[in-house]
Formats: sequence, structure tokens, C-alpha cells
Amino acid sequence: MKATTQFICSQCGYVSSKWLGRCPDCGSWNSFTEEKIEDKKTVSKDSLQYSSTALSDVPYETEFRFESGISELDRVLGGGIVRASSVLVGGEPGIGKSTLLLQVVAGCASRRKVLYVSGEESASQVRQRAERLGLDLGSINIFCDTKLEKILSVIKAEKPQIAVIDSLQTLATDELSSVAGSVTQIRNCCMEIVSLCKAVGTSVFFIGHVTKEGTLAGPKIIEHMVDTVLYFEQASMGVRLIRAAKNRFGSVDEIGIFTMTSEGLEGVKDPASFFISERKEATLPPGIAYTAITEGTRTFLVEIQALIVEAKSGYSRVYSDKIDSSRVLRVCAILERHAGIRLTDKDIYVNVAGGIRVNEVSVELALALALWSAYSETNLPAKMVSFGELSLAGEVRPVNYGDRRLKAASEMGFDKAMVPASMTFEKNNILLKRCQKVRDAFTMKG
Ligand SMILES: [Zn+2]
Repeated sequence: MKATTQFICSQCGYVSSKWLGRCPDCGSWNSFTEEKIEDKKTVSKDSLQYSSTALSDVPYETEFRFESGISELDRVLGGGIVRASSVLVGGEPGIGKSTLLLQVVAGCASRRKVLYVSGEESASQVRQRAERLGLDLGSINIFCDTKLEKILSVIKAEKPQIAVIDSLQTLATDELSSVAGSVTQIRNCCMEIVSLCKAVGTSVFFIGHVTKEGTLAGPKIIEHMVDTVLYFEQASMGVRLIRAAKNRFGSVDEIGIFTMTSEGLEGVKDPASFFISERKEATLPPGIAYTAITEGTRTFLVEIQALIVEAKSGYSRVYSDKIDSSRVLRVCAILERHAGIRLTDKDIYVNVAGGIRVNEVSVELALALALWSAYSETNLPAKMVSFGELSLAGEVRPVNYGDRRLKAASEMGFDKAMVPASMTFEKNNILLKRCQKVRDAFTMKG
């Protein structure tokens, strides 16, 4: 007998004929849901008539990009919203995705035709939310439904310049019998909306909830169908970051930083110092070191914190969310071997103030300084920044953007920097301490 159902991983879309506890493709646990094997209803293709166009007859696009009115979002998009592009905005429920996109349509509505499609909230709920945020309701059009066919007909008839679909997981087409939120429904509905929006020149934003449970399929399964993929992250209380995971029209290095206020999400105007707290003392408490990180075109100062205590379980453990634990372990091993610090019987906690994730290799020297300062209870100078990569041989290796990092530090009133010995810099007013070996960083007087 032919199987009528299959099991699909709700995180990555992997298909299996039987239920699996763990997905062999993406490694998720309990992510398989049973879905019907669907045959799309056949439509007669004979009546369809299409023709091609001479490339030389194709008109120039008068406007390729336009601003969303929210500069932090425009930066992450690569300089504004691209006409007829498709953008996936993913994140955990309640993080601010709908709020931000409601702000976008409100900000654009005076100049452009906008459409907000809500399958999550009723029209009056959306109105109340928009009024709470103090948005101009003026010419925002709303359509509340979850049926793909109805949504397509509204887009086709009204040809908005911006459409928001809130959310992906509520969409369903009558052509398929699977429930809304299943992998099959999400894929089909997304594909149809993207292709219609391309044809009529609508820039479409899909809101996709990232959920831990496997019952709703995640936004990951449509990443390949859209032009740009943005993900919301919560940094610290009230602070939201937006990063691009994919961008056909720009780089994926830029981040957008927002604070959550009663008027919605507000872009942070002076991000360079946003992640460090003001300190009046001349030295820092033990375990704290500053570094300068780069995200796209911008440079931020961040505070690395380390705490070292006796191990509770008899062997060493590392607790670090914002810097990869394997990087912390590697730096600890380098310190044990090349700086004579014994960490094997310690529990090590590492954090980044403000909650920003730091993936840059340049953080290693500052991380080593924070760990060493915590271990030896040494106070580092308050106005000192450090950056550099560490080799397993204990050398301090050069990193990119040295001048940018020093400039940002100097603008923040920093006057000292620990840097890799082999790097050269433009003229600046920062006192440089050059380190060949990681050990040098601990022997120099601050
Ligand atoms: Zn999977």
C-alpha cells in the first residue's frame, strides 16, 4: 500500500517515511510532525498563454530602493527596502516583529500604498495597537484573513508597494489539506505570495515565529525562497538587535540596535558607547576588560566580564552565552600553558555587558585580560581597550580594522590600548602597549 503520510522536520524540512526522535539533518530533537503527502489539484495548462519580452524593451526601474523611515532597519537591509523584494523577519513571539513592521507601514503610508495582512490579530486589535504606539493610521490598509487565495486577490487588485504578512504560520491554502503552520502549507503559501509580489512590484515582509516546540514549523524552511532574512535577538532587557542572516542586496555584517519604548522600537542613535557603562574610578573591578568590536560599518566598545571560582563539581566548567564557550576554553588553555595560570579546578563565568554576542576573533586578548584580572584580582586601567587574536603558541596575532577600533576608543575618552605588536596604526592620541606574547599583557604596568 502506498504511504499517505510522511514525517517532516519542522525546523529544516527534512523528510522521512517514519517518525524520528532526532533530525539527521539539523540535529533538532522531537521536531518531526506527520503531514499528508499532498498532490496539488491539477489545473489545465492548455488555456494559459504567456509571451517573453525583448530585453531591450524592458523599462529602467526608476526607483530601486526606498527608505523605510527607520534608519536602523534600512542599514540592515543594505540601504533601504528594495522594490519587489521579499524579506523574512524571524524571532521569538513577543520580541517586537509586528511592532516594528507596523511602524514601517505607518512611516511609509503617507507616500506609498501599504497593506498590513493580519492572521494573528483582528483589525480592531491592530488598530488599538497602532494607536497605543502613537502611529498615524492615515492611509494604512489592513486585511485580516489567513486564506492564501484571499490574500493573493487583495495584493493583485491593490498592488501595494509594501505588504506585511503577519504571520507566516497562520497562512493556509485550500489546495492543500494540511493544517496552517505545517511545512507544506508554509512553503506553498510563501512561494505563491513571493512570486505574485515580484510580478506586481510589491516589497513583502513575512513575519515568522521562531518556536522551540516542533508543532509550528519555523521560518528557517523558507529562508531559501526570500531575498533577505532578518532575525531579531534580545540583547538585554528592552534592547533588541536585528541581524541579517542572508541578504541578496547588501552585506550581512550590519546590525540594527533598538530599544523598546512605549512608542515602539526606537533606533539607538549613539551605539558606539551603548554597551558600556560609565565608570568614574581610574581602575576597573577585577575581571573586567574593554574591547572594541566591529559590526559592518560601525565600531562598538564592549565590556567583557569574567568570574573565576572554585569548581563545585570537582572539574572545571565554563558558563558563557555571549562568547562561544569553545573560544573561552581555548583562551583558558592558552593561559594555563603560556601564562602559568591554573584553571583546571575552577568554574569560569564569562559575560558581555549589554548582552551583545561577540563572535570576532579580536576579542581574545581582552578575554585573556579579563580572565587573568579575575584570577589574579588585578584592576585594569579604566580607560584601556585591548584587541588581538591569540595563537595556541601564546602569541598575540594582528586583527582587522585596528585604526577604526582605536578611533572609536579615543572618541569615548580612552587613552590606552593593548594591541598586537606587529600592527601599525595611523597617528592617534592613544598610548599603545604592544604585546608579542599574551604573557606581555600581564607584565606591563597599566
Ligand atoms: Zn531538521
